[in-house]
Amino acid sequence: MTARQFQLQGLSGKTAMLALISVCATLLCTAVLLVAVQFLSLRKTFLEDLNAQIRIVGANSTAAIAFRDVRASEETLAALQTSSSIESAAIYLDGGPAFAYYLRDPAKPLPSPGAGLLEQGHQFGWRYLDLVQTVELNGKRIGLVAIRATLDMLYGRLAMYAFITMLVVGASLGIGYLLVSRMRKVVAHAEAHLTFLAHVDAVTGLPNRHAFNEHLSYALSKLEQFGGHIELLLLDLDNFKSVNDTLGHSKGDQLLKAVGQRLSGCLRDSDIVCRIGGDEFAIIIESKNTERHGGTVAHKITQSLAAPFIVNEHEVYVTGSIGVSSSADDSCDILALTRNVDTAMYAAKAKGKNTFEVFRQEMNQLAQKHLAIEHSLRKAIKNQEFSLHYQPKLHLRHNRVTGFEALLRWNNPQLGMVSPVEFIPVAEETGMINQIGLWVVQTACQQVAAWEEQGLADFKVSLNLSPRQTRNPQLAKQILAEIHSAGIDASRLELEITESQLMENVGANIELLAQLRSYGLRLSIDDFGTGYSSMAYLKRFPINELKIDRSFIRDIPGDGDDEAIVASIIALGHGLGLTVIAEGVETAQQMAFLRTVDCDSIQGYYLARPMPAADVPAFLAHMRSRPLSA
Ligand code: C2E
Ligand code: MG
Ligand code: MG
Repeated sequence: MTARQFQLQGLSGKTAMLALISVCATLLCTAVLLVAVQFLSLRKTFLEDLNAQIRIVGANSTAAIAFRDVRASEETLAALQTSSSIESAAIYLDGGPAFAYYLRDPAKPLPSPGAGLLEQGHQFGWRYLDLVQTVELNGKRIGLVAIRATLDMLYGRLAMYAFITMLVVGASLGIGYLLVSRMRKVVAHAEAHLTFLAHVDAVTGLPNRHAFNEHLSYALSKLEQFGGHIELLLLDLDNFKSVNDTLGHSKGDQLLKAVGQRLSGCLRDSDIVCRIGGDEFAIIIESKNTERHGGTVAHKITQSLAAPFIVNEHEVYVTGSIGVSSSADDSCDILALTRNVDTAMYAAKAKGKNTFEVFRQEMNQLAQKHLAIEHSLRKAIKNQEFSLHYQPKLHLRHNRVTGFEALLRWNNPQLGMVSPVEFIPVAEETGMINQIGLWVVQTACQQVAAWEEQGLADFKVSLNLSPRQTRNPQLAKQILAEIHSAGIDASRLELEITESQLMENVGANIELLAQLRSYGLRLSIDDFGTGYSSMAYLKRFPINELKIDRSFIRDIPGDGDDEAIVASIIALGHGLGLTVIAEGVETAQQMAFLRTVDCDSIQGYYLARPMPAADVPAFLAHMRSRPLSA
């Protein structure tokens, strides 16, 4: 439970307590009021009863007083014995002493008719009620009758009434309390469920972004008091989208859940892992001292993700790029910490994914460079800062150059030569790639036409398409228009689309490729082996060629695993009726090995680096006169 929730629950508890106290107070006040009203009513009835009695005694005593008949007077008074509340009574002669009386308890005094009593006719004390009645004969006062009655019975009745009232109030309170506490339980349960939904990611059961923000700000607020530092890890899965598209969303969810479990397995109980976005997980590590664990944890996570996940009986491989930032590096503010971890994560992606990067201040400079690239890229076409370089492809069996890959070069006056690895992703993010890509197609088509005029027409030129371009529904038509306007044959062009890109949106890509194939273009899957093609899809893509990623070529011959992978890709390609080319061939040994495993073509620095278009005729002439020896 977060501090805020705790506070809220404390508040609602206090409010309920206050409500209960005010209900109790109201009921008690009502009870007291009822008892008071009852007291007044009992007192009135009591007084009326006694008044009636004293009047009777008064009326019956006239003759006895007139004749000073003590016996008759005492007999009249004796009638009062039947009233249990009357303690004593006396008959006085006017202005004289009592000449007849009745005393229930002889130790107690007689009622004395003082001036006050005479004036009001009755007088309430704490324990007694005194009453007086004048006795008149022929309009002249001849005596007085005085009665003293105890209030014990009245109090007794009142106590009984108060008791019953309190019993009713108590019972009502009890029932009310039970009802309220039951309602509170139901409300608390509903609240807890809502809180759960608001803070927990339904797919993985981990805390969600909302909870992450609360955890992080709470952890940061504790730093000021207790010291130590916080490390933040941000994991973004590299290829989740293609896995999700290939396996379907429910399997994608299963995979995310499994990833969440694996992450939890890499952490201590005190660390917090949250799913903060589609394929993004964040981990908060709190340390009491200055020791840093972020890098170690990130390494552990990359290793733990390396083992395959079993989803629906399929083995699925997932990698992640992790950024690490620490509150000790920057300020303890949540914005700086999350911005830095983002920057570090992007640096890990830029480094080639499936790795982690700990935030360094220089990374901000890289981020600034990213911004500068974005800014300058907008004017690059207009300022004619782009050019295409062409890297040859050699057919191994025919020992002949059969194609060139057009690679974009950007020379900016301020930034110098910027690698496509740096600016293509920026162009991709900003959408500028569509315009730039079109420039590439146009320039390559015109170059092919220019070479044709020079009599150079026996090779193909391949162009790279980036993901955003392939999502442009106009792409195929735009390419065809450029081919027509340059006046070349579509078969002179080949398009390279990366494997991961193809798997991003299989259905739409199959359609696009089919359309491009129908125009007569050749199609190649670039960087093959780094994505996660399903064999079933591979068969359905209308492609001509597989281009083995250079990461598998780098360590051959020598690395048994890579040798096996390369040989298998070639066998697979040939099995599917495709040609296979290896990229990144830098040595004679690599080329020799590729020949032994029957690779069709090679491309790489061993043959030539990408060259300006102007150098191509001379290179072709050179290759014809001195072909690479086997
Ligand atoms: P890619 O399509 O896989 O291109 C091959 C990259 O490998 C090129 O890098 C090339 O110069 C480099 N390379 C070729 N032979 C070797 C070798 O023997 N060893 C090593 N280490 N590298 C070699 P470059 O030109 O920097 O391009 C990088 C990536 O940028 C390309 O990878 C491609 O994905 C992208 N790119 C380049 N031009 C374009 C373009 O016009 N449009 C699009 N969408 N992407 C492009
Ligand atoms: Mg390529
Ligand atoms: Mg490639």
